[in-house]
Amino acid sequence: MADGTKVALVTGANKGIGYAIARGLAARGVEVLLGARDAARRSAAVDRLAAEGVAVHGVGLDVTDPSTIAEVAAFVGDRHGRLDILVNNAGITGDETQTAGAGGLAEVRRVFDVNVFGVMAVTEAMLPLLLRSAGARIVNVSSSVGSLSDMTAPDGGYLAEMPAMLGYPVSKTALGAVTAQYAKHVRKDGILVNAVCPGYTATDLNGFAGDRTPEQGAAIAIEMALLPEDGPTAGFFDDAGRVAW
Ligand code: NAP
Repeated sequence: MADGTKVALVTGANKGIGYAIARGLAARGVEVLLGARDAARRSAAVDRLAAEGVAVHGVGLDVTDPSTIAEVAAFVGDRHGRLDILVNNAGITGDETQTAGAGGLAEVRRVFDVNVFGVMAVTEAMLPLLLRSAGARIVNVSSSVGSLSDMTAPDGGYLAEMPAMLGYPVSKTALGAVTAQYAKHVRKDGILVNAVCPGYTATDLNGFAGDRTPEQGAAIAIEMALLPEDGPTAGFFDDAGRVAW
């Protein structure tokens, strides 16, 4: 914007961690476009924030629907002429048919469509707008369940008791590589691209079993969205620092 206010797009921001990221960025003076695929859930989220005195603008965005992605890109171009922050937060876990040995490739594909191809599709569409920013930031909301270091730990890592799954954890591993490739692509343009893990956060994703609040989960994404010029890129971070890929 003309006054130097940063413009951010957050995907999957009608609830959970995305909602808290949108609220946190708006509270820090960022002009937030709250992406949500469902019109009723989107306006409810925008109204809930407005009731708290936090102004955000809702945009209809299904990360698996190219037409909504193109509409949002056109809208951002017309309204702002650029995008300073993209937070790829939308994600799904999928059901138990993704368990290794169960043969549920349809479910694996569904998870990848949102968590991997959705991120690529949105990032590709927003890239021309991000390149028009003085120093854009891309934050991909991943999970340490996608850490290859952890998966291959001799003791089975911190999720050793969970069955091996081909969908959600593998999609987050792929998201790490997507993060690295985009970081490589835009390094020369001063765009910083990082992945974050919010930690085990109480949201719909896990039946609210997580032990962190959405605000705690959102904190690392907000920090990476507002990195200074000399901040890191091609990294994976949580509240404690770097996460092993
Ligand atoms: P959540 O409460 O279930 O929120 C997920 C959001 O993604 C919702 O807004 C949902 O919209 C949206 N979404 C799903 N499919 C979409 C699509 N095709 N297009 C656009 N939006 C879509 O889950 P959350 O815990 O906040 O998860 C946010 C991110 O954090 C995810 O990437 C997740 O993998 C990651 N994460 C979460 C945890 C945790 O413990 N909660 C831990 C590590 C990583 P609808 O309401 O319309 O379904």
